Amino acid sequence: MCIFCEIIEGNIPSKKVYEDDKFLAILDISQTTKGHTLVMPKKHYDNFLAMPTDEFQELMGKAKEISEKIIPSLGANGCNVLINTNAVAGQSVMHTHVHIIPRYDENDTIRFLFQENKYDLDEVLRSMEL
Ligand code: AMP
Ligand code: ZN
Repeated sequence: MCIFCEIIEGNIPSKKVYEDDKFLAILDISQTTKGHTLVMPKKHYDNFLAMPTDEFQELMGKAKEISEKIIPSLGANGCNVLINTNAVAGQSVMHTHVHIIPRYDENDTIRFLFQENKYDLDEVLRSMEL
């Protein structure tokens, strides 16, 4: 059983932010910023791509509801909402979860670096085959 399934089962302690029959939100142990929260489905899916679309939509709806409450109550000025998918993207727990990272200050310790690359945009579009 994965570590988040163990938490959901109550075998490993956690700080619960929200719980219903389908979803659990807990404080991330790393507390990247104050109130850093993880929202997860109780049913195990390795990543969001493995989820049925309606369940993913419900998960994101729950993440929005929780964000709407915790951002003002923490006195944060915004948040980043993040889903790491697979090891290449930094996913370390293979039970899909949404990070809600409250942001207080532009000069805090979080940096998302979108470095520019010189891809040909038309070639990129052709590669995407949508
Ligand atoms: P990710 O890298 O997107 O897979 O995120 C996994 C997150 O889970 C990390 O931010 C960890 O700090 C967090 N984490 C790992 N173990 C626990 C735990 N036992 N309780 C709360 N958060 C955890
Ligand atoms: Zn799991």
